[in-house]
Amino acid sequence: MTTLTPVAQALQQVLDGISGEWASESLPLAQCDGRVLSEAITSPLDVPASDNSAMDGYALRADQATQPLPISQRVAAGQWPEPLAPDSAARIFTGAPVPPGADAVVMQEDCEVRDGLLTINADVSVGDNIRPRGQDIAKGATVLAAGRRLRPQDLGLLASLGLSTAPVAKALRVTVLSTGDELREPGDGLAHGGQLYNSNRYTLGGLLRGLGCEVIDGGIVADDADVTARALRTAAQQSDLVITSGGVSVGEEDHVKHTVESLGALTLWKLAMKPGKPLAFGHLGGTPFFGLPGNPVSVFVTFCLVVRPWILRRLGVADVEPLAVPAVAGFDFPRAGTRQEYLRVTVELENGELVAQRFRTQSSGVLSSLSASNALVIVPPGETFAQGDRVQVILLDELAGP
Ligand code: AMP
Ligand code: MG
Repeated sequence: MTTLTPVAQALQQVLDGISGEWASESLPLAQCDGRVLSEAITSPLDVPASDNSAMDGYALRADQATQPLPISQRVAAGQWPEPLAPDSAARIFTGAPVPPGADAVVMQEDCEVRDGLLTINADVSVGDNIRPRGQDIAKGATVLAAGRRLRPQDLGLLASLGLSTAPVAKALRVTVLSTGDELREPGDGLAHGGQLYNSNRYTLGGLLRGLGCEVIDGGIVADDADVTARALRTAAQQSDLVITSGGVSVGEEDHVKHTVESLGALTLWKLAMKPGKPLAFGHLGGTPFFGLPGNPVSVFVTFCLVVRPWILRRLGVADVEPLAVPAVAGFDFPRAGTRQEYLRVTVELENGELVAQRFRTQSSGVLSSLSASNALVIVPPGETFAQGDRVQVILLDELAGP
């Protein structure tokens, strides 16, 4: 019997196999969502670019706040002020630059203007209500480090620096092959009850695109050694990564493992995880390869826990493992397993804590278990727990989507 590789060890092994710099490209900001920054970004300017007012009010010298002052100018956002005339105040609005010479802004609620003279009913100190130049970001400061996956707020930040493009890791071209004589594409109809629709293609396609990959659909591959070899060879030539689903066990109808071994090499096979025991990793003449199980839930779980971290690291991300957060079990798990299990659950906030309720069936073929759930409970091998115990969960939103 083949020994099963523990999940953490398998992950380490696939990550350790990554070497060399990945190519980068410069893209317009609007195309950078979810992409990985390939260089650190330093700020070309101070943000904000000038001392500006945090309030609607009056700008003046704090040491003149006790005397009535004429109003010498009016500064709205978008305007550029004159230096403050001696012994005067300036009417100013939120976001407007503070006139040189003024060192405080008094909010209008504390001011009174009579016969063109301003009087102030508050204590005023130097710096009051002024947002200093460079308060958010100083010119030359590192704003984002290389290896960051860009989120919408990061794109906003880069735009606020006047940058219209960003250097990002080039998209990985990934070919997805769906093996199985029983498979039909949605829209093509089923000839008989022994056929089923190819769902893995869509699950994998969505997950890959969420990671910024360019997905090549290699279609359905028949359970035949020659057909499998041809499909894998073509896929390896045209892509940076090849992913198959199904056909990776050792039944007579499973051709992926042998074919990969004849075209390249397998360095990993069979993980101690549930769902997802048969999972192959290797290369096809230099092109990295993941052979995922066929069962739809296993596909999702193995992709998220092994392939996703590999892709992220390949693109330059340091921290690639999904975040696990504590939750309270809303059910018993009395029988320890020999593999690390990932249970489909729904977590809800109850009295300030996440409580996890298990989906009624945990079969790896039941895709509705994933659709109905929002998290996975991680159960390490050999462990049990009871209702009320603390468990670790990975939120599915963390794994799928951009
Ligand atoms: P296999 O590992 O090829 O024996 O597949 C395991 C199970 O997953 C079988 O019940 C297959 O019918 C199912 N399966 C394989 N590929 C797909 C697919 N692309 N979409 C949906 N189910 C699949
Ligand atoms: Mg099959």
